[in-house]
Amino acid sequence: MRYGEMKKILVTGGAGFLGSHLCERLLAQGHEILCVDNLFTGSRRNIAHLLDDSRFEFLRHDVTFPLYVEVDEIYNLACPASPIHYQFDPVQTTKTSVIGAINMLGLAKRLKAKILQASTSEVYGDPEIHPQPEEYWGRVNPIGFRSCYDEGKRCAETLFFDYRRQHGMAVKVVRIFNTYGPRMHPNDGRVVSNLIVQALKGEAITIYGDGSQTRSFCYADDLIDAMIKMMATDRDVVGPINIGNPEEFTIIELAKLVVELTNSSSRLIFNDLPPDDPKQRRPDITRARNLLGWAPRVDLREGLTKTISYFDALLTEQRHTISTRS
Ligand code: NAD
Ligand code: UDP
Ligand code: UDP
Repeated sequence: MRYGEMKKILVTGGAGFLGSHLCERLLAQGHEILCVDNLFTGSRRNIAHLLDDSRFEFLRHDVTFPLYVEVDEIYNLACPASPIHYQFDPVQTTKTSVIGAINMLGLAKRLKAKILQASTSEVYGDPEIHPQPEEYWGRVNPIGFRSCYDEGKRCAETLFFDYRRQHGMAVKVVRIFNTYGPRMHPNDGRVVSNLIVQALKGEAITIYGDGSQTRSFCYADDLIDAMIKMMATDRDVVGPINIGNPEEFTIIELAKLVVELTNSSSRLIFNDLPPDDPKQRRPDITRARNLLGWAPRVDLREGLTKTISYFDALLTEQRHTISTRS
């Protein structure tokens, strides 16, 4: 990297699952990273391996409060992403998305910095159009249990587009579809981590509903590639752009693959479907292919194998800690 190419980059939510991968990648590219996180769902453990690097700085801060720092680019990822976590304090979830976006946009405006928003496929709600293209406006319940997240993220998108129209700012919006990989929280409640942990522990595998609902799962490394490519685009590329893996699976298919790859004896049990659970979801990634020259490279089998190795090591470490304590 030549002098002048090194940037100071702010990653909010940088101690979370995706944020920590993004910090790691940007650091490896030679940039300076300011990781801001209130550690609600993220952890120091996710960034422990980065703390010794003089180009990495961690600041414990809640994005619903103003932040005065000097940076060249901002990736705004701060927001709990798993339903059990974002429904734990729904008012705080909306505040994080909306007030957090206002503060980060205000910061970017003052600094004339590029800013990228980590939006979500949840803006499409329980969709009637399949697969979902960016032009689709979505079908979101404004008053349900998922609304704090879905409507918060929709409002954040509105703010990004209005700051661009009103202040001529360089903004980027990516809509992330279900993404998984190492460093997901083991108790995070999302389907990939739940199923892997249950299978590795030999516990019953919880299927919500009849398991016929579908999702499309993107491996974290692929997603980070796309986010960085999006940030590097010209001013006129704003998005929103879907990022995800268009291979679609039912939850039953996912569960069977996890059981096979973990060689587990766990059986499947069926629980109630949570309210407003989308029945199907698959990204149309034509725009990402055309504008970013990007497509996912890691298929589900390969990505799950890597994720299983991570959780296997984590659970072994946890068992070891418990046995040495007792
Ligand atoms: P995560 O929960 O691991 O990460 C979110 C991070 O934000 C955590 O470190 C958390 O402590 C932090 N945070 C929460 N509230 C905050 C606040 N008020 N101030 C500062 N930090 C705060 O989840 P993730 O999967 O890494 O998601 C990262 C981003 O990507 C989120 O914005 C999420 O909405 C988006 N996203 C993720 C997925 C996915 O499948 N992983 C899908 C769609 C969108
Ligand atoms: N803000 C911030 N850091 C900055 C600049 C602004 O956190 O460096 C916050 C501040 O809280 C402000 C918000 O961003 O309320 C929106 O800023 P903007 O300039 O858009 O609006 P205003 O200052 O008029 O409220
Ligand atoms: N799910 C499941 N068992 C679990 C956790 C989730 O069957 O232990 C289902 C959930 O009902 C949903 C899908 O898996 O239909 C994806 O859930 P997740 O919370 O990972 O993501 P989201 O619903 O936000 O896409």
